[in-house]
Amino acid sequence: MSSLSNRIRHSLVGLRMPRALEVLDHTLKQLEQGEMSALEAIDRLLNEEFSSRENRRVGMALTTSRLAPVKTLESFDFSFQPALDRDRIMTLAELEFIVRAEVIHFLGPPGTGKSHLATALGVAAVKAGKSVYRAPLADLIEALAKAEREGRLAEKIRFYARVSLLIVDEIGYLPITTGGANLFFQLVNARYEKGAMIMTSNRGFAEWGEVFGDPVVATALLDRLLHHAVVIHIEGASYRLRAHADLLPEHIRANAPIIPPPKKRGRPAKVNNAKPN
Ligand code: ADP
Ligand code: MG
Repeated sequence: MSSLSNRIRHSLVGLRMPRALEVLDHTLKQLEQGEMSALEAIDRLLNEEFSSRENRRVGMALTTSRLAPVKTLESFDFSFQPALDRDRIMTLAELEFIVRAEVIHFLGPPGTGKSHLATALGVAAVKAGKSVYRAPLADLIEALAKAEREGRLAEKIRFYARVSLLIVDEIGYLPITTGGANLFFQLVNARYEKGAMIMTSNRGFAEWGEVFGDPVVATALLDRLLHHAVVIHIEGASYRLRAHADLLPEHIRANAPIIPPPKKRGRPAKVNNAKPN
């Protein structure tokens, strides 16, 4: 037994299975004492090693995907947004939209969980082994502009076009120059019908001309971004402000109602009846 266990130890070292090596002695002890079957022992060793590698892979991928701070669907309180269709979000979490290279739009006022849901879908995708990259629109455009100045624009666009899922957060918060809008258009065009995207915005599509500083570019962007798209309006209250409703000035309270609106009947808005928020 001991020469056999030495051989197993030797193999685990050679195969670079440090976690299995760690639990080997305890597993063998349990096996000897009849607390575990041989099959269970094999399963324990392989499963410990596999889980530890998966955790490390996911941890590293979350960092390179820029998905921190990590959000999950489990930590999303759907009861706080009763108008939001939970089943629809859960269906998205099955990630078929990535295979179909669709574009998901989360629209709604600040604090309603747009970034949370976008990030949570990104985290689900990373766990499923997909490559993901998340950035606020302003950062994305800044990186593209820098690459252009340095003569590496094509390379940078290829980098953003290569990931399975690109999450563009915070569209509409900062004004975009026409040059910036053009760079973003080139990126969107490179991904069009090839790679999935999730976009979050506090501005309706009708305002994109203003957001991108150019109605022509905005129309061209929307043409591609609404072609194979899922539009999800979140019209409820700000989660950030939920504890401070009484401190808010009246005009902000009106824009971000603290009492969530009553649940709507029927199916959520589709692209063709999408309306600006
Ligand atoms: P938005 O992007 O719409 O402005 P965020 O997704 O950033 O809003 O949400 C603001 C904060 O509130 C985040 O910390 C987020 O995790 C949290 N949050 C928002 N909605 C919910 C919710 N329904 N359940 C749990 N946490 C939420
Ligand atoms: Mg946000």
